[in-house]
Amino acid sequence: MLGLACAACLGRRGGLRAYSALTSNLAPFTNPSEKERNSAVTLVRGEGVHVWDDQGNKYLDGLAGLWSNALGNGNERVIGAAHAQLKKLAYQHTFWNRTTDIAEEYTRRLVDFASHRGVVQTFMSCGGSDANDTNVKLAWYYWNAVGQPSRKTVIARHGAYHGVTITASSMSGLDSIHKGYGPLPLPWVRHVSTPHYWRNGLPGETEEEYSSRLAKELEDLILREGPETIAAFIAEPVMGAGGVIPPPKGYFQKIQPILQKYDILFILDEVITAFGRLGERFGSDFFDIQPDLYTVAKAMSSSYYPLGAALITERVADAIKDQANKFGVFGHGYTYGGHPVACAIGLECLNIYEETSIWDHVKLMTPTFQLTLKQLETHPLVGEVRGEGFMLAIEFVSDKATKAPLGTSVPPATILANECMKNGLLVRSTGNVVVLAPSLVFTMENFQELFSKLKASFDSFDQIVY
Ligand code: PLP
Repeated sequence: MLGLACAACLGRRGGLRAYSALTSNLAPFTNPSEKERNSAVTLVRGEGVHVWDDQGNKYLDGLAGLWSNALGNGNERVIGAAHAQLKKLAYQHTFWNRTTDIAEEYTRRLVDFASHRGVVQTFMSCGGSDANDTNVKLAWYYWNAVGQPSRKTVIARHGAYHGVTITASSMSGLDSIHKGYGPLPLPWVRHVSTPHYWRNGLPGETEEEYSSRLAKELEDLILREGPETIAAFIAEPVMGAGGVIPPPKGYFQKIQPILQKYDILFILDEVITAFGRLGERFGSDFFDIQPDLYTVAKAMSSSYYPLGAALITERVADAIKDQANKFGVFGHGYTYGGHPVACAIGLECLNIYEETSIWDHVKLMTPTFQLTLKQLETHPLVGEVRGEGFMLAIEFVSDKATKAPLGTSVPPATILANECMKNGLLVRSTGNVVVLAPSLVFTMENFQELFSKLKASFDSFDQIVY
């Protein structure tokens, strides 16, 4: 029987269309067509803020990988820490009250680093999505613990990106993540408006008034749903993948009292902004936000290893401890959460960030980055250049007055991104928006290189579009 089954199986396999070396990998956020995959750029080497492809072309990385490679490639201290940990103890988990010296040392340091934000505890994950999942589970666990089990709904925002696990996808407010998946977003998620003043503010409305309108929208939703059903509100300090959208003036100051009024937990997704990207240790330092739970990842390990965490404040930590004591165990954990090598890398990154006050460097260089590129708003097809710290977006329009999107057969941001690539600059493109988020170690020389490559790319963009 076994032999027959194998023969049938081999016959079927023989009839299958062969997948090429590239299409055999179903690549994230990539059109899976053979044509598209055959034009993939294959990177093979990195040194500082530059990377090289397999054809020998050199690129300046204008997005720090995925807003994440804070120190650039080849940092010898981080590599040394990883190597030493691999030799000492490559793997042990942190389940069942077993732990490792490095996981304990790192998580203690992390709590110290975030203690000014009210953080007393961490829960370790492998990235941002699973840390956001963890934070939702913590919120549900919390409400069960304090005797309000009806609180299950999470309010997120259109345009948000919180990752791609089922929970994180549901909270993300981008159609591209929900399309084709049927039940996404899951029914316990609601979305409020993207806080984008330039695009959505009404004629004559000030930024503060716009923020008040958004706070009212949130309160109306809470009242419609019933406050006793709302577990948490989740937000990024600056929307990232949704197109780098900093909050309008007074936004968080108006949102937070509403959350407090109805006793709703606030999850702040600092996956992009923690560890210095806005010129402060946390995005919450920059905007003076006081959430109950934080999500961190990316720069946490400078992307030398998958690493993320939920950072937990006292209110939530105490209730969880009481609840878990009832069950005898806190039933949650990832095989690779608190991985020894990830922790060794995270610890060395944190050492470097603190020794160099990397956020001060970002703060110092921010005007060069932001103000130089703000001048692109004089371009007839650029509607808005916006950002904070080392996060910036260039949005294309066909008409500056109406802000109508620029309708080219290939999205304008893709055209510019392709030209950037030809000029040796990596950027991110989505529809009408091009995004830049360089490494936190970018020097003046790196910025000059970025500006001149971007200018050359705009010159060829103009020739294509006009
Ligand atoms: N949250 C934010 C704000 C992000 O930008 C991202 C990724 O870009 C995530 C969560 C998801 O993180 P990961 O890709 O590590 O799962």
